[in-house]
Amino acid sequence: MSAKYIFVTGGVVSSLGKGLAAASIGCLLESRGLKVNLMKFDPYLNVDPGTMSPFQHGEVFVTDDGAETDLDLGHYERFTHAKLSRDNNWTTGRVYEQIIAKERRGDYLGKTVQVIPHVTNEIKAAMKKVAQDVDVAIVEIGGTVGDIESLPFMEAIRQMRQELGREHTLFMHVTLVPFIAAAQELKTKPTQHSVKELLSIGIQPDILLCRTDRFLSKEIKSKIALFCNVEEEAVITAKDVATIYEVPVVFSREGVDTLVLRYLHLNAKERDLKDWEEIVHRVYNPKAEVTIGIVGKYVEYEDSYKSLKEALVHGALAHNLKLNLNWVEAEGLETGDRTYEEQLADYDGLLVPGGFGKRGIEGMLIAIRYAREKNVPFFGICLGMQVACIEFARDVCGLADANSSEFDPATPHRVIYKLRELRGVEELGGTMRLGAWPCKIEPGTLAYRIYGKLEISERHRHRYEFNREYEGTLTAGGLRISGSTPDGTYVEMVELPDHPHFIGCQFHPEFKSKPLEPHPLFKTFVGAAYEHGLKRRADRLAAEVEMFHRPEKMGRR
Ligand code: GLN
Repeated sequence: MSAKYIFVTGGVVSSLGKGLAAASIGCLLESRGLKVNLMKFDPYLNVDPGTMSPFQHGEVFVTDDGAETDLDLGHYERFTHAKLSRDNNWTTGRVYEQIIAKERRGDYLGKTVQVIPHVTNEIKAAMKKVAQDVDVAIVEIGGTVGDIESLPFMEAIRQMRQELGREHTLFMHVTLVPFIAAAQELKTKPTQHSVKELLSIGIQPDILLCRTDRFLSKEIKSKIALFCNVEEEAVITAKDVATIYEVPVVFSREGVDTLVLRYLHLNAKERDLKDWEEIVHRVYNPKAEVTIGIVGKYVEYEDSYKSLKEALVHGALAHNLKLNLNWVEAEGLETGDRTYEEQLADYDGLLVPGGFGKRGIEGMLIAIRYAREKNVPFFGICLGMQVACIEFARDVCGLADANSSEFDPATPHRVIYKLRELRGVEELGGTMRLGAWPCKIEPGTLAYRIYGKLEISERHRHRYEFNREYEGTLTAGGLRISGSTPDGTYVEMVELPDHPHFIGCQFHPEFKSKPLEPHPLFKTFVGAAYEHGLKRRADRLAAEVEMFHRPEKMGRR
């Protein structure tokens, strides 16, 4: 059986949610029992996003095989069961890298190497590779139609239709239908122009997903259908929603999946979206709230910690809670107008996420000490775990200058260091430790209670690690190492047994959390934060009552 392809392109402007649309279509097709895979082509020249700033390009999503990929792959994994790898994300840079390597090897046997056919063939081969063993491969083309960079990808998908025919390929175009306040009208012109642009490169879209803030009337739909040469039924209202997990449900109401099956001549069972509807129900009907503070280098940029934010949402949904997420700028804890106690007092839980570089570290240390001393649930991820170890070494074990060699190469106490630098980078695989590694959990620890098993596998992206030379000192002070690689080389998890919930991990559990399968580390952290919040409010109320009855004892009259 050969797979069918859905090609997702975007028009008018970027950030229309092509990735979410692709992921949601995948989710809908899975809900009908079909097997899907998803892939993304990014037209930029970087070989992968690993070297790009998350504050420019958004988070770097890491797959099990250690590929540093576009954040849309995170959506694909959260919405479907597809197993993604480096095969699922290609950039122009990577396509060219392959072609140039072949050219240097002489593989082209004297031929002139050209965009058509050599680049387009390479792109088509990459698509066919992920389409093996699935019913439908969903291929998202990054960028916007009309971009110079995306032309080879557009040409490749045009050729795919030519080769495989209409029954095996479907073009889905995500476009914008803006509401113009002055005219009190939805405007279809940008969509018409975008489709014209696609037509000029030989692609007639089959389905239009129209991003809009209100439902498209029948008149608007028939106007778009007429001008863009698609069926009226194929003009879909992709209305803004309060939660991204509502997108599959909204698409199902518009009948997108039924249309896809008809166009691709696929038979499938009735859709079953119960689980997703339940998630959406929870989003709209929380039983209470929980407030988490993320202490980081910068105040956040929308997409730079995508998976982390989603994982916290999943953790909150698991307890039927609404998540309030606030970013605490680490440097502001040192220098802000308000004291750090004032700034941190209203959080039910504190989290220090992954990151690189020295900026903000002192502020993170302040937040971690506060969480440790005040029994506030704490979760440190990657950099967050490293800084927690430094804080413990300094404030509990008396190693005043303890640091990571990343922030202070000359520190006398390198509690965090680059093990691989000592062993030779080659031996331990490149300069970054990337992708899935197994981890052994110590019985009787919080980590064991959370995971409920002795061996786990989680994804990594770091250069520095815990220095075992300090294990004796730190554990004597009360830190517990609760997870390590099976050979004992790397420390993967630490915790404080004397604290209600203080845990750090060297890996990034957020990459594996899904709304329907919330990651246990996030679920328990948010749960502990909620409990702490209840206690915090009860204590505050008790103090107020006390003050009311016995003001003299509280130093007030
Ligand atoms: N900068 C730290 C390291 O490279 C942490 C990395 C991270 O948090 N992803 O080890």
